[in-house]
Amino acid sequence: MTTSREQAGVPVAVANDLVRSYGHGQNAVQALAGVSAEFRRGQFTAIMGPSGSGKSTFLQCMAGLDTVTSGTVRIGEVDITSLGRTELTRLRRDRLGFVFQSFNLLPMLTAEENIQLTGRLGGRDADAGWFDTIVDALGLRGRLRHRPAEMSGGQQQRVAVARALLTRPEVLFADEPTGNLDSRSGAEVLGFLRTAVDSYRQTVVMVTHDPAAAAYADRVLFLADGRIVGELAEPTSDLVHARMRKLEG
Ligand code: ADP
Repeated sequence: MTTSREQAGVPVAVANDLVRSYGHGQNAVQALAGVSAEFRRGQFTAIMGPSGSGKSTFLQCMAGLDTVTSGTVRIGEVDITSLGRTELTRLRRDRLGFVFQSFNLLPMLTAEENIQLTGRLGGRDADAGWFDTIVDALGLRGRLRHRPAEMSGGQQQRVAVARALLTRPEVLFADEPTGNLDSRSGAEVLGFLRTAVDSYRQTVVMVTHDPAAAAYADRVLFLADGRIVGELAEPTSDLVHARMRKLEG
């Protein structure tokens, strides 16, 4: 018998009761106050919430870029909160993808070299077919020999997305990926993330403060004061905007 959960896809990343505190005593801040969530294969999730609600901390903990105070994060079958530093670095490189607000490209490398970087660090060259698919889908064919300084912000972010996807990560984490882009370049990046989910069954988890960006996702998780306070399936910009207005009081 197939359960509805299996039909909906296996969770590839699971947070279980995550707590993240910063500081001690009277100065302690609880950035995450017990967050549980599942992210399924081929699902695009946006994380939203007022400033300071814990969005970035949540993403960083899920992606193994920050340590948790308690709780667990599973990527596939691995509890990443129990891994040592070297194992965690390897897991991030081999199984996760990252896109940040600042494009984080290496300035002395060409677009092609930047795209190939993560795979090469892992000792693997991506198959040429997959490289070509991504480069063409992102419209980067004519830019491969350019260095970051010779590209627009939108082009640089598309290079960063290509780099993140080339290793076929189990989860692509994006922290405000359109935060430094004009709306047209932002829409191109978001449209491609949507394509990556629909056409390649990629899993995307994206922090954003922009309702229009969140509307590209399959669902939105809303955070407030370090807790998940709501979820919206099939979000539209207007619905997300209305929920955010309520949360911001
Ligand atoms: P958001 O991304 O929703 O704006 P953050 O995850 O950045 O929220 O922050 C959540 C809370 O944790 C905030 O109160 C913030 O000040 C605090 N915080 C985040 N990072 C640190 C840190 N490194 N040291 C101390 N406090 C932090």
